[in-house]
Amino acid sequence: MTFSDWGGRLVPFPEERARRYRDSGAWSSDPTGRRLHQIATRFPDRPAVIAAEGQMSFAELDRRTDQIAAALIRLGLRRLDPVIFQLTNRLETVLAWYGCIKAGLVPVATLAAHRMHEIGHVSRKVGAVAHLVEAGLPSFDLVEFAREHAAGHPTMRHIISVGDVASNDRDEVTRLEDLGLDIDPHTAHAVVEQIAIQTDPSDVAAFQLSGGTTGVPKVIPRIHAEYWNNALLYADSLGWDENSRVAHLIPIIHNAGISCGLHAAHSVGACLILATADASVAFDLMIRSGATEVLIGHGHYQAVMTPEFDLAAVSLKRIILSGAKVPHELFERVDDGAERWAGQLFGMAEGLFTVTPLDAPAQARLTTVGSPISSDDEVRILEPGSETELRDGEVGELCCRGPYTIPGYFDAPDHNRDAFTSDGFYRTGDLGTITEIEGARYLSIEGRIKDLINRGGEKINAEELELLLLEHPGIANVAVVAMPDPRLGERTCAYVVATRGDVLPLKDVQEHLAQLGVAKFKWPERLEWVSSFPQTNVGKIDKKRLRAEIAAKLVDESDSRPIGV
Ligand code: AMP
Repeated sequence: MTFSDWGGRLVPFPEERARRYRDSGAWSSDPTGRRLHQIATRFPDRPAVIAAEGQMSFAELDRRTDQIAAALIRLGLRRLDPVIFQLTNRLETVLAWYGCIKAGLVPVATLAAHRMHEIGHVSRKVGAVAHLVEAGLPSFDLVEFAREHAAGHPTMRHIISVGDVASNDRDEVTRLEDLGLDIDPHTAHAVVEQIAIQTDPSDVAAFQLSGGTTGVPKVIPRIHAEYWNNALLYADSLGWDENSRVAHLIPIIHNAGISCGLHAAHSVGACLILATADASVAFDLMIRSGATEVLIGHGHYQAVMTPEFDLAAVSLKRIILSGAKVPHELFERVDDGAERWAGQLFGMAEGLFTVTPLDAPAQARLTTVGSPISSDDEVRILEPGSETELRDGEVGELCCRGPYTIPGYFDAPDHNRDAFTSDGFYRTGDLGTITEIEGARYLSIEGRIKDLINRGGEKINAEELELLLLEHPGIANVAVVAMPDPRLGERTCAYVVATRGDVLPLKDVQEHLAQLGVAKFKWPERLEWVSSFPQTNVGKIDKKRLRAEIAAKLVDESDSRPIGV
């Protein structure tokens, strides 16, 4: 085993805590690829994935991903080479993920929606060697994008595609579907086992991305010792087993997708029903494939309330709601008090997950996000900006430490100094409080301190967007805030001061961001032109007031809209 700390850019867990987690079983010595193989050996014939493109048993998944891994090594990729992922939810994405993991490569969990601004930064930060893109997307040519991105890139050597590649691209692009078909499964497995032997439990398994609190997104290193176990803890806390069928609608490559969907289902031999964000298509697939579990994110709260989402038609046993406060009516709709149980989840790519315990009383299920999934998790509510712990019932910054919560972002020493307490608790930037209900303690989320917009689960960093908007010559000053949205929870509104008093149309501002290569979901969807910003008494822009102002304006506008519009 040859542990790599990436030239000092990876923050290790303190040895005393690492020992504690190994002793308690929270950490494993088996690398992630081997964990999948162990499950596939136990449940070879059970379905591992059902998606629109088809389905696969555990034995097929294990065999095919061994071949892909062996072919990636044969291509010249080396253990710990980072691979940028820009794929949507489809069967091949699962193959690509495990194929890379088994080859010891490090998937970088970017999104198909990201563009040059995001991909260029992250791929250079981690020294990405391969770019995995989905071909044939109707809205954007990711293969062409990968080619542009690779030009002049210091480390990028391979473009790998999933889906239909145009024939003129075939020389430059390797098709994932073709990888390793000629490699004998035993030979492929031997290559994968060699990689597993070389893997140290503290090696990076995957890089996730953080919405961040300042500037550009931060890179979150998740390691083999904890990553699969994080998912197993989640699956266990919900009582899943090999008969569970776990539907997932939001991006599978996100940490929630991996830890609550892909790895969580597979950690207990359950089947992943890989759906997409279109609620009615997803709902059909859930009915056809007998989903028993589903995670409903903020962006689908409204869809679930519509009559088309006929919950009685699906065999769901448990529905987990996550991402924002759960409205009473939504809870009542999804939890029928008998067959269908509803609970809540709070989680983050940096680590900590809390979930409603199966035996929690109704009040805890409805009003809290439950309790941490590992007995090794430590949670503190601190007075913001200090290390003073608050009492139960008081609202403060949620801080956490534990076996699967990172001890530091990748290559970000300055940021890490502010993001962690002196004794290594991660400052989440979320506001929370602990409530005791019938003798047990539960967490609830009461807002956030970090300056971001949560657009249906996608986080938009206000400072990052403000800096990009300020590059427009017509913009003298800008403050980006969340505005409430019935479907996505929040959307982005930019309060803007014009350079010469001339206001710009929204589409000009969006075009400016497109030119800068900024992902579309980050573009402001409304501009409010002002001559100056309200200030707090310490001289900062009063964003709280701006948020309240835009929220009130939206209410006024909807009240004055003629009926039927
Ligand atoms: P991510 O790392 O993208 O999974 O986002 C994590 C962040 O999403 C958290 O730090 C919270 O700000 C937010 N979040 C996740 N779950 C919830 C929830 N149940 N209620 C409120 N906010 C949540």
